[in-house]
Amino acid sequence: MKYLDEYRDPAAAQRLLAEIRKTATRRWTLMEVCGGQTHSLLRHGIAAELEGTVELIHGPGCPVCVTSQVDIDFACELAQREDMILASFGDMLRVPGSERSLLDVRTAGGQVQVVYSPLDAVRLAQKNPQRQIVFFAVGFETTAPATALAVRQAERDGVQNFSLLVSHVRVQPAMESLVKTPDHRVQAFLAAGHVCTVMGYESYESFVERYQLPVVVTGFEPLDLLEGILACVRQLEQGQARLENCYARAVQAAGNRAARDLVQEIYQINDRTWRGFGVISRGGLELRPEWSHFDARLRFEKSELPVLENDACRSYDVMTGQLKPTDCPEFGKRCSPDSPLGAPMVSSEGACAAYYRYAMPVDHTT
Ligand code: SF4
Repeated sequence: MKYLDEYRDPAAAQRLLAEIRKTATRRWTLMEVCGGQTHSLLRHGIAAELEGTVELIHGPGCPVCVTSQVDIDFACELAQREDMILASFGDMLRVPGSERSLLDVRTAGGQVQVVYSPLDAVRLAQKNPQRQIVFFAVGFETTAPATALAVRQAERDGVQNFSLLVSHVRVQPAMESLVKTPDHRVQAFLAAGHVCTVMGYESYESFVERYQLPVVVTGFEPLDLLEGILACVRQLEQGQARLENCYARAVQAAGNRAARDLVQEIYQINDRTWRGFGVISRGGLELRPEWSHFDARLRFEKSELPVLENDACRSYDVMTGQLKPTDCPEFGKRCSPDSPLGAPMVSSEGACAAYYRYAMPVDHTT
């Protein structure tokens, strides 16, 4: 635990908190892009400690939360077909689709298998040659290399009964779409450190230039977050907008070349529908034509049933920093982790789940 403890040292955290308070001459509004950072900020009490000095608003960085309802509905449909197994990360199971979740489908006898890696899904296909295995490939640029590897492995082993429902999303186009909305509240971004470990951060140069907002690459431990926040506050106080890397122990400017090359070999960028956001230009990844024989959308027909949105869920407002989860009228009432109305309440990276777990101010019994 030596290395984790170093980044959780309470005395060092107090020093950084004091420095942030001393530096800020007014209240600043920062957005942490990644849901993992949201959970860490709440779990370690950082958001509460900085109340009045820095307002932390939560960004679109939860891939489960933004997975299109069309894809969830299709995954549910596939899981009900004979001779088919839908393989998914556990996080996706309780996310509501139009009428049901993958968990509902499994409870009703559908074939849904939780896997821990995309390669597990390839192995599942090899063990079940009489069935079609569809892997629900969700996640940001962080998980795309692992699914790319699974495609390559399936090709190498000649696995014919394996395909992917690709729902990979790209984080930077979502940040762009957000700052183009006239009423956005972001004054600086804490960029998601784990995405930058793969993709690097060079592409943020032009983003910072265009939108004149500080972007600071930030990790997930308390001291990582506090250093990122301090760097943002210093820039804002000095009237600057620069790109900084406060996660140098994990992130290089160019990212991980091998992982990036692998993603580029298997995927190409496409426009993608994000749940709540609509279509985001260049907001996702799809299989390149030479790998399209692994595309479940081409392999299996989809019914034309309408997608039924749940109007009560304010997830878009939560993921764009317009609404605190606790200010959603359904929070802790009709919507809870046991009975989620929207993905942010059920995903392990969802902002509503973080507030429910670490900062629950309402009476659950009402
Ligand atoms: S509390 Fe529930 S209903 Fe409200 S935004 Fe969050 S997930 Fe949606």
